[in-house]
Amino acid sequence: MKFLAPATALFLAFASTLCFALPADWTTPVEPCKISDTLYYVGSRDLAAYLVVTPQGNILINANLESSPPQIRRSVEQLGFRWNDIRILLNNQAHYDHVAGVAQIFQETGAKLMVMEGDVDVIESGGATDFDPTLPRFPSSHVDRILKDNDTVTLGGITLTAHKTPGHSRGCTTWTMQTQAAGRTLNVVIVGGWAMNPSVLMQLVASHGKPEVYPNITTDFDHTFATLKTLPCDIFLGAHGGYFHLLDKLERLTNEGTSVWIDASGYREAVGKADSTYRKNLEQFRKTEPTN
Ligand SMILES: [Zn+2]
Repeated sequence: MKFLAPATALFLAFASTLCFALPADWTTPVEPCKISDTLYYVGSRDLAAYLVVTPQGNILINANLESSPPQIRRSVEQLGFRWNDIRILLNNQAHYDHVAGVAQIFQETGAKLMVMEGDVDVIESGGATDFDPTLPRFPSSHVDRILKDNDTVTLGGITLTAHKTPGHSRGCTTWTMQTQAAGRTLNVVIVGGWAMNPSVLMQLVASHGKPEVYPNITTDFDHTFATLKTLPCDIFLGAHGGYFHLLDKLERLTNEGTSVWIDASGYREAVGKADSTYRKNLEQFRKTEPTN
């Protein structure tokens, strides 16, 4: 479980029992802040949410927990933007900690929901069709546009590209865009996810009479790491603050300004680490697979 933050690992260990306490970092707000000219952080200490600001309305990436919309709204308004200007809702992965708030935000803003193929049925069934049966259900939402790998979403002159990076969820999505900061054009990468939850980790390959957790999951992970390794990255972000050391960067923000978000080497290092953790797990499970 080395690849998970201790709080997340602990939480998931509890998920199979009756206790369902959420990690405090998922619900504790942080001061919302500017990442670049068009991009803002509006999430909590660990559940990331991003506001992309355009002259024709705004895009929100990740609605988080069912209880998160008021926190996200406060952050958006504190930055001087209007809640009702959210036109498009995107997400990184169809797990309840990133999409349970979608239904409420849709109701309040009427924004269009765009989701990667593979995650569509999970969002429309409120989590019922997820390959991981231990994950909590959430209010379902209707998907307005189904995205495919490398599809783009454009609003007010800003274009985001949806990279399908499946494995963590079947439609796990890494978003990229270009943005201006300090007079330069910078490549932004918002990583969707790159690890298996422990509850399904044991089924990465078929073993002990059980099939793999879903067909071709290992092909999916190969595609994900190949994609992540080729994406140009200056500004490194992700679905969880822990992916890109959010808290550390927020601490440095006051003194160092928005340059703290520029972290090309941190991105490469984190992708490499996630990949080798995945390979190690895979190798271990292949070894325990019966040969007959
Ligand atoms: Zn997840």
